[in-house]
Amino acid sequence: MSSVDKVCPKCGGKMMKGEVKFSAEQLSTRAPSPFSTGIPMGGLPSVMETVESRPYWEERTGEKTGFIFKRDEKRRMTVVGYRCTLCNFIDLYAQDR
Ligand SMILES: [Zn+2]
Repeated sequence: MSSVDKVCPKCGGKMMKGEVKFSAEQLSTRAPSPFSTGIPMGGLPSVMETVESRPYWEERTGEKTGFIFKRDEKRRMTVVGYRCTLCNFIDLYAQDR
């Protein structure tokens, strides 16, 4: 953890640390298709729930994993970012977990 304030490379403003997230509202029960002629699954209330997921950075390390079945080893890193409080410039970084 660094205590040094990051400075915006564009305007020199203060950068705030943050994370990239996806937020998606989903129906937990499948909505009936307008073309469906089947019997609707009645009785179940459809609940809207917000699903949050975080993107990650993935890259191939060039190494192979596995003894019999060789696969490309992949490395996953979380993505963090800094946003300028003045001009809203966003700087993204990949970070080891
Ligand atoms: Zn800025």
